[in-house]
Amino acid sequence: MRRLILALTLCSALVPFANTFYAGYLVQRQQLIDNTLEGHYAYATKLARSTDDFLQSALQQLAYSAKLLAPHMRDERYLGREVDRLRLQTQSFNSVTIIDDTGYVLATSPETLQIKGKTLQSAGVVETLMAKGPVISQPYMSVAGNFIVFISQPIFAASGKYLGAVGGSIYLKRDNMLDTLLGSHFYQDSSYVYVVDKNKHIIYHPDDKRVGDVVHNNLAIDRVSAGESSRASLTNSQGVEMLAGYAVVPSTGWGIVAQRPKLATLAPLNALMSSVLYKTLPLVLIMLVVIWWSARHIASPLRQLADGARDMDRPETAQTIRSVKSWYFESQEMKKAMLKGMGLLQRNISKLREDVNTDPLTGLGNRRHLEAAIAALQAQQTPFAVVAIDIDHFKQINDRFGHDTGDAVLKQLAQQIRTVSRAEDIPCRVGGEEFLLLLPQAPLLSALQMAERLRALVESTELPEVGRVTISSGVAHWPDSDDEIRAVFQQADAMLYAAKHGGRNRVAG
Ligand code: GH3
Ligand code: MG
Ligand code: MG
Repeated sequence: MRRLILALTLCSALVPFANTFYAGYLVQRQQLIDNTLEGHYAYATKLARSTDDFLQSALQQLAYSAKLLAPHMRDERYLGREVDRLRLQTQSFNSVTIIDDTGYVLATSPETLQIKGKTLQSAGVVETLMAKGPVISQPYMSVAGNFIVFISQPIFAASGKYLGAVGGSIYLKRDNMLDTLLGSHFYQDSSYVYVVDKNKHIIYHPDDKRVGDVVHNNLAIDRVSAGESSRASLTNSQGVEMLAGYAVVPSTGWGIVAQRPKLATLAPLNALMSSVLYKTLPLVLIMLVVIWWSARHIASPLRQLADGARDMDRPETAQTIRSVKSWYFESQEMKKAMLKGMGLLQRNISKLREDVNTDPLTGLGNRRHLEAAIAALQAQQTPFAVVAIDIDHFKQINDRFGHDTGDAVLKQLAQQIRTVSRAEDIPCRVGGEEFLLLLPQAPLLSALQMAERLRALVESTELPEVGRVTISSGVAHWPDSDDEIRAVFQQADAMLYAAKHGGRNRVAG
């Protein structure tokens, strides 16, 4: 019962708690993930726009220069000044180069590149010469050994003749404009940004070493290089779960991915949830103790009553049940019912016990009662006197007046025996018209006197119809008459016999 209450209450208390806790966690977790995805998507979009703006303005700067340069293509010093100006003033490029229509380098800044006077055949230059228009090249390895993007504008003479191009390089593995644009933000919370080109080459990454890598099996890169801008929860090529937002740079088809490890995103939530758990734990423990205590308290009276029910036949059980603290209605009713039932049982048992020991005609003790009384007196070593009583000529009474009248005489005598005896005396009917009276603590003499009183009372009593009746008695004493109890009773019988023979209506002892 206690376990049942305990289990029930625990279920009804803990399950909703755990459920609320878990549901709360899930909701907040999803919210955090959604917010992070949304934030990163917005950030990637913004960066894609800024990058696009940067590239457009770089193209414009180069276009402006191209116009200035057209009339001065043979003026080496002019070209030299212009490339320096472009590189140093705008800070957009790591290097600036002017080539003629064959790829021959007319000027370069910085000079340290040592490509002036050489004809370039790198991918960027080839693309530039072929396009004869504005170009943002695919990333490639330059002659000087740099992984670069080459941005260029054509130079046309006033006549419309193609003279060559002015172009700026961005070194993808060194400090560059993209660094300033993409790298200066956002790293303190373990978020970071990287950029891939259309062919899934990493062209910008906070870890320089990864620039130039081709990345496969990355959902964000697959999608962004396919021209899609969105957000996704994914596992990156290093096996780390990421929350990523990605956006395409329109002018180049590059993809910008802003992402953050999922674990880092969820860490504060996990910390929060553990803290909530630790803070609620004492409360939960207190609650458990209260529940346990209440369960005990509720079950306790029922358990005690159940224990009582098991020992219902023992008289002391009534007291046990009475002492049960039944503090609520049902247990009270149960206690009442049990006490009532037990009272009934005990009454019936004692009535039965009484009946078993009582002579139904006279209400005096019977032989069984006598035996029990003797055993008790012997056990307590209580001395006692015995008076054996027999009605004289009772047979004749029966014969003359009938059996019923005989019975009435027996009842009358029983009443008279009660009258003369003390409360502690034990009168019994042991045969048809034979009685035995035990007198605990009475000396022989008192017993003789009492027997005589009885004899006189019987003799002097006029019975209706029957008239006068007499009795004879024999008296003995234990242990004065004999140490053996049985012998004492035989002695009383012998005395009765003597009284009969002596003429009846007398006491012998
Ligand atoms: P005595 O003076 O020698 O004792 O003569 P008695 O007639 O009393 O002799 P006895 O003791 O032999 O007789 C007992 C009679 O008691 C026999 C029987 O008819 C009668 N009796 C025994 N039990 C009952 C009883 O329960 N009711 C009635 N009415 N009579 C009984
Ligand atoms: Mg008789
Ligand atoms: Mg007799």
